Amino acid sequence: MYAALAPELGLGTRRHFVNIAPSKMALSSVVPIEERPNKDILVLFDVDGTLTPARQDATPETLQLLQDLRKKVVIGFVGGSDLPKQQEQLGAADVNVVDMFDYAFAENGLTAYHMSKQLASQSFINWLGEGKYKDLVNFILHYVADMDIPIKRGTFVEFRNGMINVSPIGRNASTQERNDFEKFDKETQVRAKFVEKLKERFADYGLTYSIGGQISFDVFPAGWDKTYCLQHVQDAGFKEIHFFGDKTYKGGNDYEIYEDDRTIGHTVESPADTAKILKELFKI
Ligand SMILES: [Mg+2]
Repeated sequence: MYAALAPELGLGTRRHFVNIAPSKMALSSVVPIEERPNKDILVLFDVDGTLTPARQDATPETLQLLQDLRKKVVIGFVGGSDLPKQQEQLGAADVNVVDMFDYAFAENGLTAYHMSKQLASQSFINWLGEGKYKDLVNFILHYVADMDIPIKRGTFVEFRNGMINVSPIGRNASTQERNDFEKFDKETQVRAKFVEKLKERFADYGLTYSIGGQISFDVFPAGWDKTYCLQHVQDAGFKEIHFFGDKTYKGGNDYEIYEDDRTIGHTVESPADTAKILKELFKI
């Protein structure tokens, strides 16, 4: 499939661009989608570990490569964090991250932009409703109150836009307290038991539970992984949707979209690996 596709990618109208630094790239210099040689190919990227080193900023080389790619195909990012985090990692003081990509999907697409314009957004509370949320959080707080664990701190439920984060010890725990809790949880499985109880009690809610990090677990609607963003592009008529991600293994946050029938998945080990595959695949 790539072999058949590759020759086309090198063709198309040659355009001349003033060679300016990507951070100064204004939206006005972007090739309109309809003028790109492969306008029916969408290339989506995970952010952390794929376009940037873990929790760090993208290099100028990566940013330049994205701008070169954007002359040929349609590009987008899909990250689990909120937009300010992606602005910090990919944008610059004078460049808005939503202007650097044709599609920008923060929080897996709950916050979404196309050509710098915001699309319909969604939130956990809006989806669940106040009444059902209250029943859920009341149950959680009762359960935490009745838990016999060595120590408790504060912030047992953290309310976020797309999910809630639940911690039996509380998110205010110090580093040492977190380490101790993690060890305790490995021995007693208190988080796993808590999740089982919630699954049983709120079976009709359509929720997914994800135990991650040292002290907590996330609760969010089923299907609100990275595949959520695909609904924003399903009517755009793309013939191919490529996805690049570093955590494409089962349990990783790129797994669902990587495995999805609507995408062609690429596993990468680093931003350098992403660049290498892009150069091969799209002749940039
Ligand atoms: Mg990643």
